[in-house]
Amino acid sequence: MQSCDVLIVGGGPAGSSAAWRLKRSGADVLVLDKESFPRLKLCAGWVTPEVVHDLEMDIASYPHRFLTFDKLHIHLKGLHLRVPCVQHSIRRFEFDAWLLERSGAPVVQHNVKHIRHENGEYIIDDTFRCKYLIGAGGTRCPVYRTFFRELHPRADELQTATLEHEIEYDWQDPDCHLWFFENGLPGYAWYVPKKNGWLNIGLGGMATRLKKHGGKDLKHHWGQFTGKLGRKLARGAQYHPEGYSYYLRGKVDVARIDNAFITGDAAGLATRDMCEGIGPAVRSGLHAAQAILENTPYELEEVTGASLGGGLASRMLDWAFTRGAA
Ligand SMILES: Cc1cc2nc3c(=O)[nH]c(=O)nc-3n(C[C@H](O)[C@H](O)[C@H](O)COP(=O)(O)OP(=O)(O)OC[C@H]3O[C@@H](n4cnc5c(N)ncnc54)[C@H](O)[C@@H]3O)c2cc1C
Repeated sequence: MQSCDVLIVGGGPAGSSAAWRLKRSGADVLVLDKESFPRLKLCAGWVTPEVVHDLEMDIASYPHRFLTFDKLHIHLKGLHLRVPCVQHSIRRFEFDAWLLERSGAPVVQHNVKHIRHENGEYIIDDTFRCKYLIGAGGTRCPVYRTFFRELHPRADELQTATLEHEIEYDWQDPDCHLWFFENGLPGYAWYVPKKNGWLNIGLGGMATRLKKHGGKDLKHHWGQFTGKLGRKLARGAQYHPEGYSYYLRGKVDVARIDNAFITGDAAGLATRDMCEGIGPAVRSGLHAAQAILENTPYELEEVTGASLGGGLASRMLDWAFTRGAA
């Protein structure tokens, strides 16, 4: 059986951030991921300046596609607002592999199925043993499923369902566009250009509200949305969208039990106003690592639950997504 001090299940932004922090302090860490990196991750790939800061990224030396927007185009019920702000886009395929490699942690491809806690150790599939266990396996994380689901059940009304496709496309408009509540979608649709001819198109909405009260399903919204893009922003683009769902932040009462932690999507930490999950994943991974290294409580207060700062715009979007102004 392979032993280590800290075992991390999942090598996405939460897991690789925890691994990076732990490795820098000389901890004995192992990352398990069911996929071989670089791997596909459905995601628009929008990252905030906070993510760049938390990861101590030097943008100039980042070796992959990285695009900076100096404004966002917000489309809301016929209004078109140009909001000055600095935001970025990356391709998750590249970004996640780079983060994991940069962490310096050994990575083993392994699909975690069974975990037990025995004599102060965690035993994973009778193959790995560790003292500390970090669950960073996303929505279906086996650490969440085994130890946390009962105490920290997910709230159906906070589940978001998405469809997206990232395509090679010679875009002409280099800005990011977001359409809120278009045609009754309880969420928003996006156009996110990536550097050097890639484009991410997608939409997401609150799962329980999608088909309620005669609402349309995501595929129907997809048809309407891409039809509109085809007339202007993305003429001639062809798509094969795929879907994924994750949870926005509810009450996170229990994120640590004994020496087991949950981080990122495993803990349901995506923001309630913009459904942003990379930033909360990175920060919670760093905090879990810090709690282990310094033997301090695992705090999630500093992990943002609102991308727009929690002000009026944040609260209105949160309300509109979960209760319904669409
Ligand atoms: C369509 C879509 C668009 C999005 N757009 C954005 C965006 O633009 N910006 C943003 O901030 N957020 C976005 N999000 C949310 C964001 O992608 C997630 O919140 C973020 O990836 C969470 O990171 P994580 O590390 O917790 O989990 P993940 O990135 O999901 O990583 C989990 C890892 O665990 C591995 N794993 C899972 N199960 C097992 C197992 N049993 N054994 C071993 N390994 C396992 C997986 O292979 C994966 O590599 C989007 C989400 C979707 C679905």
